[in-house]
Order: sequence, then C-alpha cells, then structure tokens
Amino acid sequence: MRFALVNPNWCFAGSVYFGCREPHLPLELGYAARALEDAGHEAVIIDAHLFNLSLGDLRARLEDFAPDFTVLVTAPTYLFWRCAQPELTVPELTAAAIIEAAGVLVAVGPHPSTSPGSVLAKLRADAVLRGEFEQALPLLADKDWREIPGLVFNWRGRLHGKDGRVQTAKVEALPALSWPDEWISRHVHHHHRFDAPPKGPGAEVEASRGCPFGCVFCAREYFRGVYRKRPMATVLAEIDGLLSRGVEYVYFIDELFLADRPLLSELAARGLKFGIQTRIDIWKPRDLELLGRAGCVSVEAGLECLTPDVRALLGKRSAMSTEQMVERLVMAKSNIPFVQANLVDVGCESPDFVAEWRDRLHSRGIWANDPVPIFPYPGSNIYRRKWGEPDDLAWERALQDYHAGVTRLSELQDAWSMPAAVGS
Ligand code: SF4
Repeated sequence: MRFALVNPNWCFAGSVYFGCREPHLPLELGYAARALEDAGHEAVIIDAHLFNLSLGDLRARLEDFAPDFTVLVTAPTYLFWRCAQPELTVPELTAAAIIEAAGVLVAVGPHPSTSPGSVLAKLRADAVLRGEFEQALPLLADKDWREIPGLVFNWRGRLHGKDGRVQTAKVEALPALSWPDEWISRHVHHHHRFDAPPKGPGAEVEASRGCPFGCVFCAREYFRGVYRKRPMATVLAEIDGLLSRGVEYVYFIDELFLADRPLLSELAARGLKFGIQTRIDIWKPRDLELLGRAGCVSVEAGLECLTPDVRALLGKRSAMSTEQMVERLVMAKSNIPFVQANLVDVGCESPDFVAEWRDRLHSRGIWANDPVPIFPYPGSNIYRRKWGEPDDLAWERALQDYHAGVTRLSELQDAWSMPAAVGS
C-alpha cells in the first residue's frame, strides 16, 4: 500500500499558541515512514511547512503519489504536542484541500488523541488514530480496523473505537532516522539557540520520551507520558549521520533531558552543539559541568512559579527552594551560554513580584520569560480536575475558559484566537 504522511504548512496568526513557529524535523513522521517501509509498504513524507507548499502544491504532490492512505498531523512535530495550538484551522483547511486526493484520510495528533469524534467530523477524516501512532500505521492496511487499539472511525452509521484506548510506541525500537540532503540543507533553524548565529544546518533528535513527574498543567496523558529511552547506540547513530551531513546543532525534543553521563560523554567527544529542556533540580553540579563540556549551549528549565507553595499547587514538587533553584541555574550558566527559567502564570503571583524576580534572574545571567498563562490542555490534570475526561468539545471548552479567565497574554503569544477559529 502507498502511504502519504503530511505535515501541513503551519500558520499560527491570531493563536494563543506560544511554541516556536519555525519548521522542525517531523520526527514522528520519520519513524512512521520507517515502520511502514519495514512492513512492506511505500511511504512518502510531504512536509508542507519545511518546503512552504501551498494547499494547491500539496494536493498536486498527493495526486502524483496517488496514496491509498494519507496521514495528517494536527500539531507541528512531537516537540509541540504538549503545547499544541488549540484551534484546528490549518488541519481543517489542509484536509479540505487534499481530501479528494488523499485516499483514506487518517488524522493523528494531540487533538484526535483527546477528542477523536470532533476531529473526525471537522476534518471529514475516515479515521483518527489516538496516541503515539508511528508504529501502528501498518495495522491500517493489514488488520480489521475494529481490532486496532485507539483507532476511531465511523462504520455503518456508528462511531467505533471510543473505548478510551490509545497507542503507545515502543520507544526502544524506534530506528535511527536519516533525512534527505535537501531537508537538512533547508533546516537552517537552530531551535532555542541564542548563543551564536547558525553556521550550518540544525536538526531535532529524541533521546528519550515521557517524564516521571506529574505537573498538573502538563498535557501528556494520551501520549509521551511514561518515561522511556531510545538505546544510546541508536541516538548516536542518528546524530553521527546528521554530523556527517554538516549539521552543527541539534535540539533534543525530550520532555525531560536527564543527566545521562554515558550519553553526555559520547556527545563531548563529537564536538556537537545542542539544546535541551529539563528540570534544574535534578541536575547535580558535576553533571552540569559535563553537560557544558558535552556541547550544550541552551538549557530551558521549568521553574514555573517563584513561590514553593504555588509550585506545589501545580504538582511541581521539589526539595529545593526557589533560591536554591536559582543558584543551580546560575551554576548551569557558568557552564552553558544560555539558560532560561520557564515561567507560567497561574494568577497567584503579583506582576510586581514576578517582575522583581525576573530582574533578579536577568542580573545573574538567567533569562526568564514573561509568564505564559496556563492553558487547561485536554490531556492535562488541570483539565481533568475542571471538567473530567475530555470529550468532543474539550478544546473549545478549554479555549473559551482561557478567554474568560485570562486578562493578559504573555509576550510569547500572538493574540487572542477567537472561539470561532477553533473549528466548524
Ligand atoms: S517536569 Fe512536569 S511539565 Fe515537565 S514534562 Fe514532566 S510533568 Fe511535564
């Protein structure tokens, strides 16, 4: 069978989305293509974002390929599944443009993982596959759909598959990815890098997936939940392949990059530059020294709030005080050129208090962002506490609640996304 794997050409104008808007490597589609090929299918990834394809270009590419199945993602790369844009504007426009050329249209992503029925209807898809889909796609061609966990579809006027199951990938079996030269040369973006301008291409890599912590705002209940590692040999093979093609910098998309000394020692021997996101309280001083020596030039660490009580409310328990975390961030900064303390706004800390702390952090060389008001993502504990299990109106409900409760957006966000833009 022929499978087209489509990353839409993203646009977040008017969205409360606060993630990066540059194209990144669609790792999940890379894994999916390999799983399909290993199962004897033909797979092509069409990245309309990286190649800036219009809807007409995308449709023409599909007409040329004539797929039996088209898989469409509803959020840009795994890196942003936990903070996806609430609205489905781009996937809806994309689905409408390609539907006649798509063959069987299957949607994947954070939206169908939490609200499969509504995504099925809005995208007029034939099915949605919930959760970490990449190794499950061959089942679409080989198996009775009613037996595929997490597959939701209409059949004989009835919605099948709404039994709460989701796909979970065997992360240890994900292969080392290799991207075409043209993809690498187009990937000029160095995600979250601020120490120096790019000299060569950038890339994204995944060393581990999931997180053992349980912050209540974290949207990871249906994907990327349990902590799992890819074998170090696989990660290094992927990185060596990227280095041999001139890649200068990689960003590890891991939810929580842990202090893995063997991996860091291997990276130190390669002269690569890289960025990570992590929690600063899990890093010991000697590991921070190795992290810097390994080539890390960017650390994004979730401090979230400045008072321990508010952090505890968010489920971000730590034995460290705010002062101790700041000292650990400063220690990181002595080894690494750029260190950011991520802040969120839960409405419990006054603007003056936050501004004073941000100044204090900036004076010590730590960047602290304008706090982003917490979005009650379907798939987070915050959503569940407010409204229970996500249903087909979950994303609209969350966005309307955000509109009603938030009076000031972070400078990282674009503008208000009107509820009408959520979808039809
Ligand atoms: S530390 Fe908290 S916010 Fe970060 S990935 Fe883990 S649960 Fe999510």
